[in-house]
Amino acid sequence: MKYADTGYNLEIDLSTGNIERVETDPKITEQYLGGLGSNLKILWDRVPPEVDAFDPENLLIFSSGLLCGTAAPGATRAIFTTVSPQTNLVGFAMMGSFIAGELKNAGYDKVIFRGKSPNLVYLWINNDKVELRDASHLKGKGTHETAEIIRQELNESRAQVAAIGLAGENRVFYASIEHDWSSASRTGMGAVMGDKGLKAIVVRGTKDVNIARPEEFGKLCQEVMEFIPIRESQPVKGVPECCDRLGAPQEMREHNDDWHMNNFPWGNCRERRTHYWTPEVDQYHKEIMGARVEKLIGCYNCSMACGGLVAVPGKPKFGMKCFTKLTYTMGAYSGDMDFDFTIARIATEYGVDGFSTPQVMAFAVELYEAGILTDEDMPGFPTGSKETGNEERFFWLLDKIARREGIGDALADGTYWAARRIGKGAEVYAHNTIKKLEQVGAKTGMLNPLYFLMYGTGAKANIVQIEGQWPQMPYDDIKDREDYVKDWIQVPDEKFKQYFLDWAPRTFPFEPGIEACCDIVDWMEMIHYIDDSLGICAGLSSFNLKPPYHVHNFPLFISAATGIDMDEPGLIKTIKRIRTLVRAFNVRRGLRRADDLPPADQWKKRFPEYEDKLLTAYYKFKGWDEEGIPTKESLHELGMDFVSDDLEQRGIIK
Ligand code: SF4
Repeated sequence: MKYADTGYNLEIDLSTGNIERVETDPKITEQYLGGLGSNLKILWDRVPPEVDAFDPENLLIFSSGLLCGTAAPGATRAIFTTVSPQTNLVGFAMMGSFIAGELKNAGYDKVIFRGKSPNLVYLWINNDKVELRDASHLKGKGTHETAEIIRQELNESRAQVAAIGLAGENRVFYASIEHDWSSASRTGMGAVMGDKGLKAIVVRGTKDVNIARPEEFGKLCQEVMEFIPIRESQPVKGVPECCDRLGAPQEMREHNDDWHMNNFPWGNCRERRTHYWTPEVDQYHKEIMGARVEKLIGCYNCSMACGGLVAVPGKPKFGMKCFTKLTYTMGAYSGDMDFDFTIARIATEYGVDGFSTPQVMAFAVELYEAGILTDEDMPGFPTGSKETGNEERFFWLLDKIARREGIGDALADGTYWAARRIGKGAEVYAHNTIKKLEQVGAKTGMLNPLYFLMYGTGAKANIVQIEGQWPQMPYDDIKDREDYVKDWIQVPDEKFKQYFLDWAPRTFPFEPGIEACCDIVDWMEMIHYIDDSLGICAGLSSFNLKPPYHVHNFPLFISAATGIDMDEPGLIKTIKRIRTLVRAFNVRRGLRRADDLPPADQWKKRFPEYEDKLLTAYYKFKGWDEEGIPTKESLHELGMDFVSDDLEQRGIIK
């Protein structure tokens, strides 16, 4: 009997329509866990660097995490993995709500898509019955519209649907896959799904998931459930309200956004409006959030309710989450929240990433204002300005991008590639990318060494790469620091407490010291990779300060659920193996040291020599050489000689 995992994957060849149920290798679970970890192993084995995102040989893997479908609170994440069209590196994006557990309940851990369907189809998994169905009538339909039509035609209101919209069908490089109020948004999962001719994945499952030691596992789940209200009653001092407790983060619950709106840049991520948040703005946000957020909504088996059902009068209701609440309105120099809600709903139906899309549009507006794009390139482009807002321009651009019409065709490739297609100096306007992917603009004055490493080396490509476990800023008062570390049970080692005690304000860029930076960033990254392999939501773990899940209780969960004998050093080594495989996969596709850099204008004050030293130290810490290539020795230590053999054959390592 298999525990936690079902022990079966579905292999779908979209070119031929062939569907196979394939037994999985338990050794892979032991070595790479589920979700991201085992996705990566499959991708490494089957997608060589010669395969591009839109080649039929590229795989799109839809996976539940190892603990999804169990009673573990917040084990809700499905993980999509493929080659990203925007970065040509591995892309992975997580999706919450209900579908990951449903896949397990249907009897499968992963669905692996290869090939391309000649006609638009959707996959219908109904327990043991799995079929590809014609989706030609869904062509051009919105993501939620598609879900509704499918549920009606299957007469199955409980079917969970993950769908692409027009943007995915048109291979917009930052197209998302949308499900319920959640989405797999980053790195173009929707574009690859559209390229494969797959409109939706539809799942209904009613089977149980086996647990190796149910009583022990139940006790662990109970401990997490008991911890959540305690942590909720103890907000962390000095942290914005949306992030001071648990959740992913609680943007829909809180109206106060002074931190984001005063500190994060507007438009094309250049300019902060440090005095934007006034008492009048505060009152407006209080009223509009109260009026528009009909109720808070959450995911399967989680009490947090991080999403909001948004109802703008005269418009369809929709589920919204997180910082998308502001990305469009700030990108357009608007501030009008009804504009943001309205355009975010349309963008969700088209199926595009709520971080990249507003940035691409703000980039286009800047190019127009600089005369690089003209009325000839953009006939009918509405009027607008920083002062009056660019709302109408954003609506216009969003349509063009989703349809790949006119200038929208270049913009659909993201700022990096669009700039190169447009030319005429447009490249300097595409300033806010890392590895060709738009990042959240969080431009500040002084180099932050922790964020330098996170932005530069992180492969996760989420909004802030890999932050979460370590406070963003130090506390002024040593007493506050002492208080903070008192109940800090989540630290992997006591030395982290000392790092925090020693960390005083205004010590950037040289504190925390290099050794501490390596330890801290590695810890944060490790927790993200655990989450993404187990399917635990970052909102109860890697994205939060002092969360209920941590490196000390994760091995207990894994052992009790799967029966695998996993202890803390074993888990740390497993995660290092997964992270190293991600790195090796990208190295095999050409990633090198020169790519591991935050945007040049990330901080006003930079220290190139120090940054170089920091990066070298971090590579060494990770077991990578000066170029960021995993060394033969470190690969051997992790039981990954198959990787070094491959890299050696390709002449990448000697
Ligand atoms: S913390 Fe929020 S986003 Fe995460 S599983 Fe719970 S409700 Fe969903």
